[in-house]
Amino acid sequence: MKLTSYWLDTVPRFTGTPQAALPGQADAVIVGGGFSGLSAALRLRQLGASVVVLERDRVIGEASGRNGGHVNNGLAGSFTDACAKLGEDTATRLYKVLNSAVDTVETITRENGIDCDFTRCGKLKVGNRQAHEAALQTDYARLTVAADPEACLLDETQVREELGSDLFSSGLLYPKSARMHMGRFGIGLANAVLHAGGLIFENTPMTGMKRTGNSFEMTTPQGKILAKSVLMATGISRNAPAWFRQRIMPVGSFIVATEPMDEAAMRRIMPGGRNVVTMQNIHNYFRATADHRLIFGGRASFSRSRTTTDITSGNMLLAAMRRTLPELPDVKIDYCWGGDVDMTVDRLPHAGQWNGVFYTMGYSGHGTQMSVYMGQRMAEAMAGMPDTNPLAGRAWQKIPCYGLASHFLPLVGAFYRAKDFVQEMKE
Ligand SMILES: Cc1cc2nc3c(=O)[nH]c(=O)nc-3n(C[C@H](O)[C@H](O)[C@H](O)COP(=O)(O)OP(=O)(O)OC[C@H]3O[C@@H](n4cnc5c(N)ncnc54)[C@H](O)[C@@H]3O)c2cc1C
Repeated sequence: MKLTSYWLDTVPRFTGTPQAALPGQADAVIVGGGFSGLSAALRLRQLGASVVVLERDRVIGEASGRNGGHVNNGLAGSFTDACAKLGEDTATRLYKVLNSAVDTVETITRENGIDCDFTRCGKLKVGNRQAHEAALQTDYARLTVAADPEACLLDETQVREELGSDLFSSGLLYPKSARMHMGRFGIGLANAVLHAGGLIFENTPMTGMKRTGNSFEMTTPQGKILAKSVLMATGISRNAPAWFRQRIMPVGSFIVATEPMDEAAMRRIMPGGRNVVTMQNIHNYFRATADHRLIFGGRASFSRSRTTTDITSGNMLLAAMRRTLPELPDVKIDYCWGGDVDMTVDRLPHAGQWNGVFYTMGYSGHGTQMSVYMGQRMAEAMAGMPDTNPLAGRAWQKIPCYGLASHFLPLVGAFYRAKDFVQEMKE
């Protein structure tokens, strides 16, 4: 079992900006070479700005190259809950933004000839308890009127036609959702930035930033660069300014990729070929790849020790995979990897300006599409286009007891596992 991301291991590494020294200035400096930063850089080049991307390590080396491979439309949580928290108008607007975000990913792949198996496979959210069924029915009734007339409610028989498992009794299908090979998309996006005339510097962390007149002076180990505008697209960065760190909680999620199966076995366990998300408090998400591997993720080990976490998590996910899909043949795990999800208090992304610096982050585990979309919108805002940010004006709350909160994660995890167990026993 390789302890590395399947997406990063199965794409040639980005070769970067050949031999170029960091220029002294640029119209825009983007900090972070994940999907947010790369998408912003591409859009800024289309708008005629000179662009430099500073990447601490390697392009798409963090969340963008370490995720579950789902490009889902719809909100991460339930639409009904979002309506209760945000009001129906805002929840509907956000839902539609996510639809546009999936379209944006598709458009970028088409316009730049990125071969990344982008497929509109649909997302299936499945429940195994009466409470789940009731929640899906309520969501369906509200969603199809307000935001997504294509969503379909599935009963037990229909779920069984989609998924080779008797565990689930209800489902909600979101047909607009897609999947792709994250490594091929990300490296394709980085190459598109280069072809458009942008500069990308790997192994170049931003270590300082200060305002000088109308510009920002950015410090890196390779020298300084003056920028007319700056976008922080740094995800969970531990060396971003404190204002960002106090608002984002890194929460580990883990993923395994099986060895390739024969096509018939894959058809037996996932006849519908959807992206699947389960509804327990400690839920799982899974999908197939073009070469018939199963990519299966979820919260696994809550231990904070990095050395043993990946192997322990791989074994926990293998057990969860066998419980969830009893018809799974006796397959080996080829890859196991983890990544930190950039959680916010309201589990929604935030984008705007802080002290004149633009930012977009906090996608809370639902960001392969939004990061690409928001990168474009923030690029337009940086270029002076009005009203481009659909997330503008929303207050961004600090993580309560920031700094201590991550120490309580193992306890929180144990609590939710126990809650899932008790709820299942009750029914
Ligand atoms: C395990 C896991 C599973 C997920 N599964 C899914 C999924 O299936 N579907 C979905 O929609 N979303 C998923 N997500 C979320 C999604 O991957 C992210 O929301 C998205 O990739 C965020 O992109 P980003 O560019 O904002 O951040 P990142 O990809 O994290 O990029 C930020 C970049 O900034 C760089 N950086 C940080 N600080 C500095 C600095 N000081 N100087 C220079 N560079 C810096 C980092 O090195 C990094 O490369 C998952 C996330 C994880 C971790």
